[in-house]
Amino acid sequence: MLVQPHLFIPGPTNIPEPVRMAMNLPMEDMRSPEFPKFTLPLFEDLKKVFKMKDGRVFIFPSSGTGAWESAIENTLTVGDKVLMSSFGQFSHLWVDMANRMGLKVILCDEEWGTGVPLDKYADVLAKDTDHEIKAVFATHNETATGVTSDIAGVRKVMDAANHPALLMVDGVSSVASLDMQMGAWGVDCCVSGSQKGFMLPTGLGILAVSDKALEANKAQQPRMNRCFFSFEDMIKTNDLGFFPYTPATQLLRGLRTSLDMIAEEGLENIFARHHRMAEGVRKAVDAWGLKLCAKEPKWHSDTVSAIYVPEDIDSAEVVKTAYYRYNVSLGVGLTKVAGKVFRIGHLGALDEVMIGGALFGVEMALRDCGVDIRLGSGTGAAAQYFSETATKSANSRDDSNLKAA
Ligand SMILES: *Cc1c(COP(=O)(O)O)cnc(C)c1O
Repeated sequence: MLVQPHLFIPGPTNIPEPVRMAMNLPMEDMRSPEFPKFTLPLFEDLKKVFKMKDGRVFIFPSSGTGAWESAIENTLTVGDKVLMSSFGQFSHLWVDMANRMGLKVILCDEEWGTGVPLDKYADVLAKDTDHEIKAVFATHNETATGVTSDIAGVRKVMDAANHPALLMVDGVSSVASLDMQMGAWGVDCCVSGSQKGFMLPTGLGILAVSDKALEANKAQQPRMNRCFFSFEDMIKTNDLGFFPYTPATQLLRGLRTSLDMIAEEGLENIFARHHRMAEGVRKAVDAWGLKLCAKEPKWHSDTVSAIYVPEDIDSAEVVKTAYYRYNVSLGVGLTKVAGKVFRIGHLGALDEVMIGGALFGVEMALRDCGVDIRLGSGTGAAAQYFSETATKSANSRDDSNLKAA
């Protein structure tokens, strides 16, 4: 392969060179007396990304799914009632996990392309005057459909009902790309992983928890079985800068560099860049005459777009064509929308030219598969948008010499 594959799936995302280089180092002694000097600031800097006002962050050598599990088994107990909603493959899988772990799920089964139903949550919570519901779950960004939900809104309806339940949020494809304000929104457990907004390989399950979640952990009666994902074991060793078992040291070195890059760009700039990249993609989708899976603008995700192909076309063929002919990886449609949508992941280390490349590949693949679009229409619309708003360019240098030169 002459050049590296062009990766536009919604995780794993592209790894910046400094992050990749930071992971290329000899194995190190994870029990050395120097190790805590490296790990303790990692925990502190992660808290800034989640905008926490209290609590702590756990880093498991797992994928995000492990952090999902840890959040449940450390704060809830078998038979607990929880309020959840399903509107895509990832929110569906968390519901499935909760059922399998013995929680009693009150489920809002929503149309794919929509998100967390605030009205229904408000109704259910208002009726739960005995506070039998122990936790409210929300998937911040549904990666299967490209839908972002309003977590501040979930907090509002919980407060309006004066409801003391824990608020559990899946932020795997949002944290470090979309604004996540755990402190201000009163989020108690926020799940993430290394291979999306954090721009790392898969392998770290990152779980941020509030003081309230830590109290629930202590008060839990009876305790759910747990071992690998136990908060208590982690806390005992993490407080000293160590881990209860072998940590993924190279990934932690990569995380150090990723957090430094995030701090350097600045969270608000990162969110603005993601919005800009997403807008470019949405301009292209409009120009192609295609529709997003997200039903309304309020659901639009700035990290991933799921795009319907015309009914007589198989979206899996579009994804395959892009892969084999143009070395471009796109996301396939999952389960309910398999064959109907393809996805462009636009999160992590990306700029305008990379998005342009993705759209260029998509246009050719769509045309090759018989979709009636004009080549250049989508890329042109995105270029026009990017160029008209170029002062906000994602990767631009100081341009004071541009005119002089
Ligand atoms: C990717 C993803 C997951 C699963 O994470 P893994 O790291 O694959 O275990 C869960 N939820 C959402 C929203 C995701 O995007």
